Amino acid sequence: MGAPAQRARRVPRGGRVHEPSRGSPHVVPDPTAPHRRLWSPSRSKGQQVEGKDVGSETVQTGGSVRPSGSGWSGPSRRTRPTRQPGASGRVLEADVVVVGARVAGAATATHLARAGHDVVMLDRAEFPSDTVSTHVIVRSGMVSLARLGVVEALVATGAPTLRRVTFSSRLGVLAREVKDRHGIDFLLAPRRVILDDVLQRAAVESGVTLRTATSVDDVVRDGQGRVVGVTGHDGDGPIEVRARHVVGADGLSSRLARSVSAPLTVVRPALAASQYAYFAGDWPVIEHHLADEVFAGVFPTHGSEACVWAITPEATARRFRRSHRGADDAFAALLAERVPDLAARLDPACQREPVRGMLRMPNHARKPFGPGWSLVGDAGYHRDAITGHGISDALRDAELLAGAIDCALSRPAREVEALALFEQDRDRLAGPIFELTQQLITFPDQERFVELQRSLAVAIDDLAGELYARPLPRGLRARA
Ligand SMILES: Cc1cc2nc3c(=O)[nH]c(=O)nc-3n(C[C@H](O)[C@H](O)[C@H](O)COP(=O)(O)OP(=O)(O)OC[C@H]3O[C@@H](n4cnc5c(N)ncnc54)[C@H](O)[C@@H]3O)c2cc1C
Repeated sequence: MGAPAQRARRVPRGGRVHEPSRGSPHVVPDPTAPHRRLWSPSRSKGQQVEGKDVGSETVQTGGSVRPSGSGWSGPSRRTRPTRQPGASGRVLEADVVVVGARVAGAATATHLARAGHDVVMLDRAEFPSDTVSTHVIVRSGMVSLARLGVVEALVATGAPTLRRVTFSSRLGVLAREVKDRHGIDFLLAPRRVILDDVLQRAAVESGVTLRTATSVDDVVRDGQGRVVGVTGHDGDGPIEVRARHVVGADGLSSRLARSVSAPLTVVRPALAASQYAYFAGDWPVIEHHLADEVFAGVFPTHGSEACVWAITPEATARRFRRSHRGADDAFAALLAERVPDLAARLDPACQREPVRGMLRMPNHARKPFGPGWSLVGDAGYHRDAITGHGISDALRDAELLAGAIDCALSRPAREVEALALFEQDRDRLAGPIFELTQQLITFPDQERFVELQRSLAVAIDDLAGELYARPLPRGLRARA
């Protein structure tokens, strides 16, 4: 990936601060210029991505750009330093501190800032940077993106608007157009480096202070045990952010969840592995291919590339890895053996990046709140990628949680009630797709698998309808 000129300059050692601009708080900036630079065709195999606990593949973060209109030294006007840096480090203060700045964190922070709260968002990564995830956004997630007001910005990045979906199995090939329902008539599969960047820009433009390259290590508690902030560090040393509420949006291996000992409330077996790679070419439609113990597919994305993915039982993925020289060879062999029609269309010379993925995908939910803290996105609820719903879950729950925190901040006596309602809503809305996910990862026979896919389509549509019908959150109401 060609580095934009502005990233070549020396950057400060400490965490970067992306301050809110003084412009309209609700205007998503034009994201096209930096994205065009990002989407130079020079992206190559070996590009680095942020790590998750995925086994052998993944490494580090990329560089950092300033969201337009933002400042570069911090803390911002809205992030008030309460003490000078000293032995214990710098101490900032905000209404809410959000740990993790990707889908769940950026969306939660945006909703809260638009509702008028001071929000600091911390991430140990630098941005824009990729992360391990394929990236189809189904109708329910599209409704959430529309409510957040970022669909146009995403389309402006060159994310193809996807209007046709195919499904091949032993039963034949089904093709359908994306129907115009709940305000959505196309789907998107934007690269995560782009999606996360657009969401972060929306957050910063809404008034959120984003500090990158800042790792959170623990929570701070008051004398009663209530969480009142976080401690962490950046390149300049320790840092502390005091806040009335702490949100953990820090992904599957959430440090926040560990710090507050958030108990698991649902645990199901981790059965499947998900792997993918990018191929250049003409990929106009979303494709699904069902074969014995393999569910594979194609998500067309930026730069005339497609994310080609395969989900299998974990044991199958590991067996192919063991019997081939590397992840690329194993992936190619898997597709050649099980999905030959798709494999025949994959020219190895067109593979743009090495195969990545997660060989064991957990399925669980955590208690998502306690005194002064909450969890959102993968930090609070994780499911296998077979239903392609993690981003959509995170966006939905970000809006629900922001509403609950908004209520708790304005009426502290109602904190427990508001956050308990968030948990209830999360579990009720996630439940049907979670259950379908658990059945799909057992890889039943193809007739049953197709039946489950039909149920999934209905569940996604029902969820999209319910989200679409919800009143707009505070802060968005003023824009409507
Ligand atoms: C292989 C694979 C394929 C997938 N495919 C799809 C798909 O097609 N569609 C879909 O909807 N979903 C998919 N998902 C799921 C989706 O990727 C996740 O659900 C989504 O990324 C969750 O977003 P998040 O913001 O909760 O967490 P993350 O995206 O994991 O972001 C967490 C952030 O927290 C930061 N962080 C972590 N710890 C700290 C710390 N201590 N201090 C500061 N910052 C910290 C990290 O740097 C990171 O930026 C897939 C996942 C995988 C693994």
